[in-house]
Amino acid sequence: MRKKISVIGLGYVGLCTTVCFAVKGYKVISSDKETTKVELIGRGTSPFYEPGLETLLKEAIQDGNLKVVSRTEGAVLGSDISFIAVGTPILRNGNVDLKFVRSSTKEIGKALRKKDGFHLVVVKSTVTPGSTEKVIKPLLEKYSRKRVGVNFGLAVNPEFLREGSAIHDFLHPNRIVIGEFDEHSGKTLEMLYREFYGDKIPILRTNPATVEMVKYASNAFLAAKISFINELANICERLPQKVDIVEVARAIGMDPRIGQEFLNAGVGWGGSCFPKDTKALVAFSRKIGYRPRILEDVIRVNLEQARRVIDVIKEEMGALNGKKIAILGLSFKPNTEDVRGAASIRVINHLIQEGAQVYAYDPAAIDNAKKVLGTKIKYSSTISECLDKADGCILVTEWEEFKKISPEDFTRLMRKPFLFDGRRIFDPKEFSEKLRFRAVGLSKMRETP
Ligand code: NAD
Repeated sequence: MRKKISVIGLGYVGLCTTVCFAVKGYKVISSDKETTKVELIGRGTSPFYEPGLETLLKEAIQDGNLKVVSRTEGAVLGSDISFIAVGTPILRNGNVDLKFVRSSTKEIGKALRKKDGFHLVVVKSTVTPGSTEKVIKPLLEKYSRKRVGVNFGLAVNPEFLREGSAIHDFLHPNRIVIGEFDEHSGKTLEMLYREFYGDKIPILRTNPATVEMVKYASNAFLAAKISFINELANICERLPQKVDIVEVARAIGMDPRIGQEFLNAGVGWGGSCFPKDTKALVAFSRKIGYRPRILEDVIRVNLEQARRVIDVIKEEMGALNGKKIAILGLSFKPNTEDVRGAASIRVINHLIQEGAQVYAYDPAAIDNAKKVLGTKIKYSSTISECLDKADGCILVTEWEEFKKISPEDFTRLMRKPFLFDGRRIFDPKEFSEKLRFRAVGLSKMRETP
């Protein structure tokens, strides 16, 4: 018989996990401590924008496979396997803040005390190596008065989905990684995934701390790859010959040892994971006696990238004081409304420091940006409104609708058309013929002397 699933924490990871299991016919009962979120989800409305999610959520509710509750106990008692998917933010010093993990674990432990039969607890939240063994396992054993590996199971199984393509990523993972405390827990989780995905997806089973490290290693590597290509882009920009980072990236990416993905130069990475996970890995590493210099620079290069954009536009526009700058894109990447750690925020803060008047447009992220930037900038409801009489424009996020803007649109709407393409979506040849145009990773000198 199919296992019943519960997910504790209905954020990006928890809700996508919940919905994907439910639409595949599993009985899922999930919980979140925020009652308003629970009510919203219960009515079939997603509390955040994620392509395809709401349609599947409605489907799952209609089929009667999905129930959402506000108490962990109900979720645990109504299921065989519980996934912990609560947030793991970082503290000011970079250390992971496990307060949500601790509270949800205690609640699961208390529920397990009342439960007969085997139950498997799976840690999906991102936690530093050793956390499940040192924090989660003792709390579960204390509050359940039971033993891991004897009365219940425990495994770590990090999530690799990306916001913006979360449903696709959950349904088509490239690998599943399981860190098990005992053979039975590992086997139970492997069987669940084999049943769900078939036998084409590789499943790696090892110890919990290795798996916790895999998640950080994965995000740190991807962040490093972007910082690396951004650093090369900065070199290209300074070359006296015509050199374009896009061509360089395409060519190096054809080497299978390098690969094409995450080689898009831009104004910097952000999001809910890379910034906090890279910082957490640095803090964790220093705590155990090793200073990770490459990782520290990966973070530094990223923060400085926003400043470099400002330097380029000052080179073109002179002092920015009092000038109107239009920002296209606020979310940290397209297809999400998430602005956590977004490069747009760093660029905008620099512009404000320079005295510029900032107007911003984003198809989805304005409400979230308002929570961070408040009244420091003006928010536009269309692209045209944003560009209207602007002295300069910075393209920060590569939303599809921005790709349709023509050079003529910029020249018609802006007071002094100058465009900085921070994500390389516009054709440099076409655009630089029609307006003042600069782009990340493109040398200023176009023609080889
Ligand atoms: P999130 O902040 O969007 O959501 C977390 C949810 O947990 C919130 O709704 C919160 O109310 C709930 N919660 C907190 N304590 C709770 C409790 N005691 N009981 C029930 N609910 C509780 O977080 P997220 O972005 O979904 O990330 C969750 C974890 O997954 C984090 O560790 C994150 O690093 C990791 N992760 C995130 C992504 C991503 O793209 N967002 C990808 C991979 C891994």
